Order: sequence, then structure tokens, then C-alpha cells
Amino acid sequence: MNFPNNLKAVLFDMDGVLFNSMPYHSEAWHTVMERHGLHLSREEAYLHEGRTGASTINIVYLRQYGKEATPELIEQIYAEKSAEFNRHPEAEPMPGASDLLKRVKADGLIPVLVTGSGQRTLIDRLSHHYPGIFTPQHMVTAFDVKYGKPHPEPYLMGLAKAGVKADEAIVIENAPIGVQAGVAAGIFTVAVNTGPLDEQVLREAGAHLVLPSMPALYEAWPSLRASSHTDY
Ligand code: CA
Repeated sequence: MNFPNNLKAVLFDMDGVLFNSMPYHSEAWHTVMERHGLHLSREEAYLHEGRTGASTINIVYLRQYGKEATPELIEQIYAEKSAEFNRHPEAEPMPGASDLLKRVKADGLIPVLVTGSGQRTLIDRLSHHYPGIFTPQHMVTAFDVKYGKPHPEPYLMGLAKAGVKADEAIVIENAPIGVQAGVAAGIFTVAVNTGPLDEQVLREAGAHLVLPSMPALYEAWPSLRASSHTDY
């Protein structure tokens, strides 16, 4: 799949793309799971990034005990995980993200947020750190979707909200499960490897392009857009 030559919208994941929040999430997951005798390393937490909390808990529980976790336990662990995460300071904006968002906007493209997060303060934080970029009409959050990543639903909804087709958009993701969702939606998917995973994991998830960071994507942006027109 080639970079779209009629690009109209850029669909951005949030955690690990716009905010450097993943170190706090992985630490919180590891701490709380260990508290309950469940083993999830910090690095493995990155592999599950983008799943619902319930699904992550159940995968680990099933692996250890050979049966499903009860809804009560899932609720308990997830509440503790959220509390643990909130003990950390607010995550910093990801280096390079602001430059890329401004470029996307200046290019006349529609920026769309597609996140599995359901933080109520989301819109405030986005407008504080990235003023004038995202509008509420162009956001897909945990409250909008039924399935969540790796299901293509969130990204298909992002296309619908932007009013564009799959070949008129790209996805910017950092996690294997998010990459799977973008690819399953039929969208050219760029992975930025902002965490500790081997980049091969992102390629195996189907990423059409893997770059080491958001500044690297910003640097590559002009040539990516130019390359999409070389077929003419
Ligand atoms: Ca992410």
C-alpha cells in the first residue's frame, strides 16, 4: 500500500503519539497486577496497549489460572490501575507532536483523534497543549465505540467523522494493536516506535511504514507527501 496521493485527513492515536503517557501506564499496570499476584512485565504492558483494561486483565488471568477473571475482580483491578496511573504527574506532550499537528493543519488536512481512552479531561488537555487543532466533531474516544482496537471500528468511525474514504487518510499509531486496527480499516498506517518494543513487532502488526519517533515523522513529512505523487 502506498502513501495516499489524495490525502485529506490524518487520524492520530493519543497515548504514546500525542502524549508521553505510556511509561506511566505500563508502570501502573505492572504494579497493580503484581499486587494481585498476576504477572505482567512493563514491556508486556506495551504489547497490550490499546486493548480495553478488562481484556488485558482477562488475558493475564487466563494465562495464569486457566479460567476467566470474574467481572468483580476485573473491575477492582482496573479501578486500582486507574488510581495508580493518576498518582503520576500529568504526561508531557510527545516531542515533535506539536510540530506535526501544525504542519497537518497548515497543509489543509483534517486532524482526527482516535483513542481508546475515556479520560473526561481529554478535550481540555488537548486544547491546552495543542490549541486550535482538534474539534469535538473530529474525535473518537472510548465513549463512541463498541469494540475498540484491534477492531477496525474506531478508525472507520474516524473516517466517517472526517467525511473521507480510507484511501484519503493515514493513521499515526505507536502500538501493535493500534496498528492492527488501522490496517484492518484499510488505511495507510504509520507506526512511530516511541516505546521500548522492537520495531519488528510493529512491522508484523502490518505497519506500512515504521519510524523511530514523532520528530522523525515530522522530518519525513515533506518527502512522504511528495513521494505519493511520483506515480503520475
Ligand atoms: Ca497508543
